[in-house]
Amino acid sequence: MGNVLEVFDVSKSFGGIHALEGCSLQVEQGSITGLIGPNGSGKTTLFNAITGYERIDAGSIHLPGEIIVTKDRPIAPDKVFRTGLGRTFQLTRIFPRLSVIENMHVATQRKGLGSFFSRWSTGQEQRRAVELLHFVGLDDLQEHLAGELSYGQRKLLEFALILIADPKIILLDEPAGGVNPSMINHIGERIRVLNQEQGITFLIVEHNMEFVMGICDKITVFHRGTNIAEGSPGEVRNNPAVLEAYLGD
Ligand code: ADP
Repeated sequence: MGNVLEVFDVSKSFGGIHALEGCSLQVEQGSITGLIGPNGSGKTTLFNAITGYERIDAGSIHLPGEIIVTKDRPIAPDKVFRTGLGRTFQLTRIFPRLSVIENMHVATQRKGLGSFFSRWSTGQEQRRAVELLHFVGLDDLQEHLAGELSYGQRKLLEFALILIADPKIILLDEPAGGVNPSMINHIGERIRVLNQEQGITFLIVEHNMEFVMGICDKITVFHRGTNIAEGSPGEVRNNPAVLEAYLGD
């Protein structure tokens, strides 16, 4: 299968800091691809570049739908979203004073369905929202305020919010960060189901090595703003350059 997302030779500086320096990345359609690297290696900057939150200085990013982003052809985040690319953030972006189901309602609206209100009131979209909450395991908490959810539950809600848009590819920013081990297993298992049953591609930034190694087909390793290695979890784990990157910093 082809690649659903490709990054070629991308660079990005902040003042004198080279956050990305000629980095490349390929995400094969249907894969669960991991992106790892020491702190400050440029992973978040790359996520921001791919999702239109940062302009790049050089190189190109090939998004679904044959959209090519360059320095001179930037793209707005909502346009990226409409190519079928969904993203979670390290700090979840939900409305804490709305209930869980109300958050789903708002996300449905943002999906940009023309006749949205009638669809929600006729129940079609609402049923889908409830189905997705059931899928992530939050259906019992529909009426709870999102701000009262645990950190792990908020991550699940954010996951459900992204699924409303029927994404082709989901970028996950530290899905296992700060959540307890049983929640980590639950999140990992949901990712596998979405990947295997619905063919959703994943690109995952994560520091929890056990989680990354356990779930990803392929891993790209970043160091000082560029990709220094890629391969299966086994290949990456035994790559001396990877060990050095982690130990050296
Ligand atoms: P990672 O996600 O791998 O930890 P980042 O992409 O967050 O790495 O950071 C890469 C480098 O770019 C770091 O040196 C960081 O301090 C710098 N950086 C990232 N964003 C900004 C910004 N908005 N302004 C200045 N420096 C930044």
